[in-house]
Amino acid sequence: MTVNLFNNVDLVIFDLDGTLYEDTDHFDYYANTLAQELETSKQDQFFADYEKMKKGQHTVAIGKAYDVRRDVIVEVEPFNGHVEKVHRWNGEEVPQSEWKDMYQTPVTYDFDTLIAIGDGWWLPNVAARHYGIENPQPAYDATKEYMATEDFSLTIIEGLREGLLALKEKNSIVLLTNSTEDDVERLLHLLDLEHVFHDVVTSARKPQHTVERFKEIMATYNASTERTLSIGDNYLNEIIPAQTLGMKAIYIDLEEGPMSFGDLKVRSISDLIEQMKEI
Ligand SMILES: [Mg+2]
Repeated sequence: MTVNLFNNVDLVIFDLDGTLYEDTDHFDYYANTLAQELETSKQDQFFADYEKMKKGQHTVAIGKAYDVRRDVIVEVEPFNGHVEKVHRWNGEEVPQSEWKDMYQTPVTYDFDTLIAIGDGWWLPNVAARHYGIENPQPAYDATKEYMATEDFSLTIIEGLREGLLALKEKNSIVLLTNSTEDDVERLLHLLDLEHVFHDVVTSARKPQHTVERFKEIMATYNASTERTLSIGDNYLNEIIPAQTLGMKAIYIDLEEGPMSFGDLKVRSISDLIEQMKEI
C-alpha cells in the first residue's frame, strides 16, 4: 500500500459488525438455528451448501444477489442495478436469452424477494430461503439474543484502540451502524472501544438510508465528500453509497475474490492500524 488514505481525509466513518471485529461464530449460530427449522433430510444439504459458501466455493457469494422466487443467483452492476449474469443454485449459468425479459429494468433490493448478499449474515439466510424457510427473522432474533449473553465473546483486534485514538487526533471519527443502541454499547465494551469515537450513530438502516446518514454526518463535521472516508465490510451498505457520493471507501473483505469495491480492499482493519498511527 503506497497511499495512506487517512492523510487525505478529515472525517472517517466506520461500520461496526464485521469491521471492528471479525469473529464469525455468530453466523454459524444463525445457520444452526435456521437449520433446526428444516426437515432432517434437508439439513445435510443446507450445511453442505453453507460450508461451500464460506469457502468461496459456491455460486452464492458475498457481492451477489439472490432472487428468492426464481431461486437464482444474480450478479448486479452495483451502481446502476442492471443484471449482468444469472446462475442456478447448482452453479450452472442461465443463458441471457432466458433471463433478459425477466430483468429488463434495474433491480432494487427488498431483502425479501430479492436479497443483496452484502455480508456474512446473508449466507445462512439465503441458504435457508433456498431450502424453504420463509421467515428467517426468528432465527436472526435468537442469534442477536445469543450475542447478548455471557457465552458470546469477541476477539479484540490488537492495537485497534490505539490506532483509532491516534487517528482521532487529526480526523473526526464516527461509528455508523445498523445495530441497536444497547447492542452497540455491549459490543464496544467487549471490544474495549468505549469512548473512542467522536460520535456513535445506531439503528442507521443501511443500505436504504446510508446516503442520508453520510450527508448528516458530513454536515455535522463540516467535511466535504472528497475528504470523507467510509470503511466497512458490506459493499452495499458502506462502499457503493460512499462512491456514489464521491467519498473515499475502504472495503474489508476476508475473501480473496474477484468481487471488489471501493478505493482499497483489505482483509482486516488490522491492516490499517499502522496507517492510522502514521498520519
Ligand atoms: Mg458490517
